Amino acid sequence: MKVCGYAAKKAKTPLALYSFERRDPRDHDVVIDIQYCGICHSDIHQVSDEWGGSTFPMVPGHEIVGFVSQVGSKSTRFRMGDRVGVGCFVDSCRKCNSCREGLEQYCLKGATLTYNDFERDGKTPTLGGYSNKIVVDEKYVLRIPDNLPLDSAAPLLCAGITLYSPLVHWKAGPKKKVAIIGLGGLGHVGVKIAHALGSEVTVLSHSIKKQKEGKKLGADKFYSTSDPKTFDILKGYFDLIINTVSVTLDCNSYLNMLALDGVMVVVGLPERETPISAFQLVGARRSLAGSAIGGIQETQEMLDFCSKNNITCDIELIPINKVNEAYERVVHSDVRYRFVIDMKSLQCMD
Ligand code: NAP
Ligand code: ZN
Ligand code: ZN
Repeated sequence: MKVCGYAAKKAKTPLALYSFERRDPRDHDVVIDIQYCGICHSDIHQVSDEWGGSTFPMVPGHEIVGFVSQVGSKSTRFRMGDRVGVGCFVDSCRKCNSCREGLEQYCLKGATLTYNDFERDGKTPTLGGYSNKIVVDEKYVLRIPDNLPLDSAAPLLCAGITLYSPLVHWKAGPKKKVAIIGLGGLGHVGVKIAHALGSEVTVLSHSIKKQKEGKKLGADKFYSTSDPKTFDILKGYFDLIINTVSVTLDCNSYLNMLALDGVMVVVGLPERETPISAFQLVGARRSLAGSAIGGIQETQEMLDFCSKNNITCDIELIPINKVNEAYERVVHSDVRYRFVIDMKSLQCMD
């Protein structure tokens, strides 16, 4: 079927209108009329080819929400008009241990990412949610609970699950002291989720500009990491630190803020690597871990948790023709806290 969207033709070029074909729905597919799509910092890293290996033309976008507009002949989970979402992957091998355990994001053969990847045939490029329609196997489609507005729920599909998964895995909850480094798209929803789980939440931000808002989002404490005193005051304090920052940080000074047996989880994916000090880990039996998004079942669990706790994202809604400007602003941490594109503003050529 003919669809259109916004694509980068080459690395670092501005996104522009682009027409392309998607497959007609197979038996188990649904077609989604996309209403909104969030702008994740990963979109910017990949359009700029900061991680290497990007393929072009690239239609980014993996925080996709919309309505089902067609269902394949054997598709049973959804009906026309259902409110649905698609996150960071649209397929996986379905056979390996990770897939069988519902951890498709860690598929041993590699999950099929929603864009900047190839389908299971290894040759059809995947193109993402900055577009008017997407065709996805129903197994990889999420249900958006009725009480969540579609626009502010969109970023839950990546930002929300990326924080929910490690918070739950490392048992954030009452009596746990949790720090979130970076109050951006991921960080702000992490604060809301960690607060709803009952943890004491501290924001570690690179300035105090967002202090008032951070507390409104549910943070109990807020510190600026530009102030060297922060690192003394909080030495040995946290049970769990989640690093959401998109640039390289000195991990070792943050490790020093962990209590005995504390864990620091990296979710931010900066372009450059960072050296790790063995002494910081050994000194208090600390762990350094990483985490990627979440599986389909866990993503649904997160959406239902957000529905129950009335958690949505704080967004700035923009028309698609403002996307390049929005990228600039994200890079300068100038967004409160997630840009979401109103895909209804997209005007296809025919
Ligand atoms: P974002 O909205 O741009 O937030 C990043 C935050 O990092 C900023 O709000 C800022 O927080 C802090 N920051 C930015 N520049 C900084 C600098 N020069 N020095 C210190 N702090 C700085 O990005 P996002 O969409 O939340 O994504 C964050 C990272 O997570 C990206 O690298 C993205 O690729 C990655 N990611 C990973 C996964 C996963 O599965 N692991 C999923 C999605 C995204 P403050 O102003 O509070 O300091
Ligand atoms: Zn993302
Ligand atoms: Zn697999």
